[in-house]
Amino acid sequence: MAGPANIDPIYRYDPEALTQLEAEGVLLPEPYRDELNPTIRDEFVSRPPMTGLSLLYPTALSTPVPSEDAAPRFVSRPPMGRLNLLREEIDKARTSLSTQVEVGADPGLGPRSPSGPGSLWPTFDPPSPISGAHFWLEPPFPGGFNQLYSPGYQFGSTGGGRYRIHHGVDIGNPVGTPVLATASGEVIHAGPDNPELLGPYNDFYGNTVVIRLDRKLNTSRGEQDVFVLFGHLVSVEVQEGQWVGTGDYLGGVGMTGIAIGPHLHMEVRIGQNSYLHTVNPALWMRPAAFTGTVAVRLLSATGRTWPGVQLSLYRYEESGVSWYRVVETYPEQESIGPDPSWGENGALSHIPVGTYLLTGSVNGEEVRQEITVRDGEMTFVELRTQQ
Ligand SMILES: [Zn+2]
Repeated sequence: MAGPANIDPIYRYDPEALTQLEAEGVLLPEPYRDELNPTIRDEFVSRPPMTGLSLLYPTALSTPVPSEDAAPRFVSRPPMGRLNLLREEIDKARTSLSTQVEVGADPGLGPRSPSGPGSLWPTFDPPSPISGAHFWLEPPFPGGFNQLYSPGYQFGSTGGGRYRIHHGVDIGNPVGTPVLATASGEVIHAGPDNPELLGPYNDFYGNTVVIRLDRKLNTSRGEQDVFVLFGHLVSVEVQEGQWVGTGDYLGGVGMTGIAIGPHLHMEVRIGQNSYLHTVNPALWMRPAAFTGTVAVRLLSATGRTWPGVQLSLYRYEESGVSWYRVVETYPEQESIGPDPSWGENGALSHIPVGTYLLTGSVNGEEVRQEITVRDGEMTFVELRTQQ
């Protein structure tokens, strides 16, 4: 593999390549993408240049529209034989490998430097990737549907200043796409988020389901409840007090509440079912096949967080940069903070396995670290500036 000596290629905007991508029909066919990110039109599905895997899964992801009678079939997940499992893995792989590449320069995504470090975070020894991981959440959609959340509006992000600070992740799929319980637990909310307040104000998440998971999280403050919220549903098919198993049908994707385009807003809450107790769902979703998760802790020399820094994650192949994402460090607002297991201030999931360079600029100081992403695992990286 070529060394990460030169990161310039990613900035080379090539209109001819873009036209070629359009001609090949690999533009992500996800209406929600355009509606949520009207200014980020340079994200394209790229055929991953990963030899063995590309041969197996050469096609770009397409988001199938569910048929009228699709929903009832997902009321409970059927017992899966080996073939079904295999098919599911292939679907997941196809989803995960249809990665998006950001081309060109978007002013909202360019490197920005924070004015200064934020609050002092306690020293933190991250657990081992195996003991610390809590990938408890299965995909919220059946195989064949989009499972990737919008990277342009990740947890803690404002989507380049266009939206409220995000307390969850958004996964676009057509209206009516079956939403499945991502883990087992008790339904503690099922219906409109009014009069019960779930967001910053009433009617923010529209039709919503909240599940208190059966599993509890062990933290330094004892066992904590874990809640998963599913927002903007077009329909709700469960009732409060009901127990649901992983894969049970909860309702359909919609855009009730404050939503631009149909999508699922998924949130993870620790300790309390509250808008101010959210953590990054990227750390909780089981990585798709052949992908892993990256958690970042970006601190100053004195252990203060650097909020609002955009770190770039570059994947290298023989030919140069082949994949690119931005990790935004969390803002110092609205109780957006680290996961009790990881102490991170930025994270991304569903990163194709491989070697990456994580780099960025903090007040003019370059930080960089080479990292390896392994299948189904967490990669934790701490970066410290000299400031
Ligand atoms: Zn959302």
